[in-house]
Amino acid sequence: MLSIQIEKAAKLKPLPPDESQLGFGRIFTDYMALADWSRERGWHHGRIIPFGPLPLHPASTCLHYAAEVFEGLKAYRRPDGGVQLFRPRENARRMIASAERLCLPALPEEEFLHLVTRLIQKEEAWVPRAQGASLYIRPFILGTDETLGVHAAERALFGVILSPVGSYYREGLRPVGILIEEKDVRAVRGGTGYAKCGGNYAASIRAGTIAAEKGYSQVLWLDGVERRYVEEVGAMNVMFKLGDRIVTPALTDSILPGITRKSCIELLRSQGREVDERPLPVDELIDALEGGALEEAWGCGTAAVISPIGRLAYGQQEYEINGGRIGPVTQSLYDTLTGIQRGLLEDPFDWIVPVN
Ligand SMILES: *Cc1c(COP(=O)(O)O)cnc(C)c1O
Repeated sequence: MLSIQIEKAAKLKPLPPDESQLGFGRIFTDYMALADWSRERGWHHGRIIPFGPLPLHPASTCLHYAAEVFEGLKAYRRPDGGVQLFRPRENARRMIASAERLCLPALPEEEFLHLVTRLIQKEEAWVPRAQGASLYIRPFILGTDETLGVHAAERALFGVILSPVGSYYREGLRPVGILIEEKDVRAVRGGTGYAKCGGNYAASIRAGTIAAEKGYSQVLWLDGVERRYVEEVGAMNVMFKLGDRIVTPALTDSILPGITRKSCIELLRSQGREVDERPLPVDELIDALEGGALEEAWGCGTAAVISPIGRLAYGQQEYEINGGRIGPVTQSLYDTLTGIQRGLLEDPFDWIVPVN
């Protein structure tokens, strides 16, 4: 295991006084974890140091060619005061797959867990206690080659930063409006859609901005080849209740394999529900909306956990789902997942990893 040097901060910041005002990703803790990689030496110089700017050469490949991958997970405060993570090994493994796609070095699963756990232990006081709040964990790998040539990384930096975040929903689960995107695509066949990399996000912002101007909170992405199959919603995976079945797009190389998605599927199947992972044409969705078979729809991802969809727009047409209200399956998924994550419910799946 990488040895981790610790450099003490001269002064600690005050903890946020009002956890209801945290928002998302605006406040950062006192420390960050870093490790260096080079082709000759592999991973080395693990360290936990005061949070602050990174010295980066202006030609660094992460800045010019988006040589970057990242992860997102959360630490939760249990009712007994302990701190726990939700399926962190899944994040470690996905980061390896993302790094492979971007020709960045993979950080071994055990090293990922070790660095994340040591940092959370040091920053334990920053894990919020308020209902719905948590400590968001952002690991990343940057290509740091100091050259303008385009090639596989020879040098890289792994980092972890932490941000206390508030409840995504201040006034309970509120269904959102979604616009089906017909022009831009998020990912293409053979591209980087399945990798969690910054470049995917940069290219998705335009459609999201235009949707927001029209009063929708996210776009529903269609596939990049035929613009016909449903892929994701914003930066979340998406699920629909069509009659008695739950349908979600089957994973392809243009869909991000979400850990919340996987957990929803495992949970629903354990409850005896039928879940279909299959290609889902948008015209089937529209037929179901018009015929009343589409009973519920939701996005799923670490930040919001479950985000109910109340309105869906396609071209000039707008449809309401379940009268714009959250449906029973959506609500139950949210309650069960967040209950397990926060230690309020038993964890029959072995998803939880205690930190202390
Ligand atoms: C991170 C992400 C998700 C959700 O993944 P989780 O592991 O559930 O947080 C879905 N889609 C995209 C594009 C993402 O970046």
